Amino acid sequence: MNKFFKAIFLVGLLVGSVTRTHYGRQYRQDTVSNQRTEGGLTLFFMWLWGVAQILGLVYVFSNWLNFANCHLPRCLRWLAGVTGTIVFGAANWLLWRSHADLANNWSPRLEVSEDHTLVTNGVFRYIRHPMYAAHWLWAVAQALLLPNWIAGLAGLVAIIPLYFRRVPQEEQLMLEQFGDEYQEYMTRTGRIVPRIF
Ligand code: SAH
Repeated sequence: MNKFFKAIFLVGLLVGSVTRTHYGRQYRQDTVSNQRTEGGLTLFFMWLWGVAQILGLVYVFSNWLNFANCHLPRCLRWLAGVTGTIVFGAANWLLWRSHADLANNWSPRLEVSEDHTLVTNGVFRYIRHPMYAAHWLWAVAQALLLPNWIAGLAGLVAIIPLYFRRVPQEEQLMLEQFGDEYQEYMTRTGRIVPRIF
């Protein structure tokens, strides 16, 4: 059973990485018109996300992290694994859709390009940060699929501080660039959870 959910984690990680690489190739740095320098702490959390995925791979391919295994009853392992599979599927779907909707407005940095447009359609119609939402789901899936205190929780350790540090800065940049249009967009959308009322 453990092997099966380890394989699911590998597939999810691979699909997510292919999506990122594919859409990342469209990024054109030469058209940037307004850029924010990001503090070392933000870069550290981004680096930590990469480390978290490497820890996942170490857990899958070796027994080095087995001392930190979390022993759950069999039925709970199944429940966590199946839920993790569904959540990783949702994460990858959302990552793909948010990249497709954001198209060439995507950037790995906090910046806007000369021909930047405000995207409010597709998944952006419901939430302002679907890509971060996808990473939250990814980290939750990692915790559910890998029953290990280090490899399982590493994704959450990276994404939680990154999200709370970066999103307010990004929204500030968007407000400066798009003014009332973004302000109005904020009133009808949630950050990572859709506004129901
Ligand atoms: N926070 C978004 C996008 C992350 S990519 C998400 O989670 O899906 C980061 C870049 O996207 C930023 O540099 C910013 O310029 C751009 N961006 C963020 N929201 C945008 C929007 N609604 N329309 C266009 N560009 C956006």
